[in-house]
Amino acid sequence: MRRKLIEQLRKKGIENEPVLEAIGDIPRHFFLDKAFEETAYEDRAFPIGQEQTISQPYTVAYQTSLLDIKKRDTVLEIGTGSGYQACVLAEMGARVFTVERNEHLHLFAKKMFDILEYPRIRAYLRDGYKGLGEFAPFDRILVTAAAPYIPDALLKQLKPGGMLIIPVGKNQQTMTRITKVKEKEFIHEELDKFRFVPFLKGIKKYAAE
Ligand code: SAH
Repeated sequence: MRRKLIEQLRKKGIENEPVLEAIGDIPRHFFLDKAFEETAYEDRAFPIGQEQTISQPYTVAYQTSLLDIKKRDTVLEIGTGSGYQACVLAEMGARVFTVERNEHLHLFAKKMFDILEYPRIRAYLRDGYKGLGEFAPFDRILVTAAAPYIPDALLKQLKPGGMLIIPVGKNQQTMTRITKVKEKEFIHEELDKFRFVPFLKGIKKYAAE
């Protein structure tokens, strides 16, 4: 099923072999509720509870391709969600930091990193609007929620030569790539349209349901 998914992604225009390989290596069905096990390798987003979704594989592949990761790059992901995207980044050889605002999802993802043996992914319960200052600067920053605007903190936490990938917009988002040429000099590119769950402010603590 994973092989079929890779073929589908190729047909949709994903050409980056290391990205396809990483997606081919990760058992996506582990991240989903048992109810979705049969369909885990369809190119669709799925609910992961807390009104959130695991991104569509095409979106994960698209964003990861744009990041153009080199081995040992430090990458900050905003919106850990299920943890799937973070595992893809780790498979690509990145040093992964990931932040999530929802404690329930944060704890779930940490469990996944244990089960799938990604001990080096560092996951924090944080408001992603603020980034992760104590580990900055990063080579790459990836936002996986719909941003109403580009947070300044994230631009500051990029290394010169670094890149931010962020979907910007309300109902529909424009994938935006910002390259930090040097301090205060940026290249701004607007790419394809997507739909993400919203980038919200503040932390949501765990509450038993
Ligand atoms: N990358 C995820 C999918 C993310 S869905 C995966 O691979 O499964 C977007 C995630 O962003 C949700 O889990 C949501 O709770 C989180 N999020 C929204 N606003 C946030 C914020 N301010 N800081 C951190 N995470 C946030």
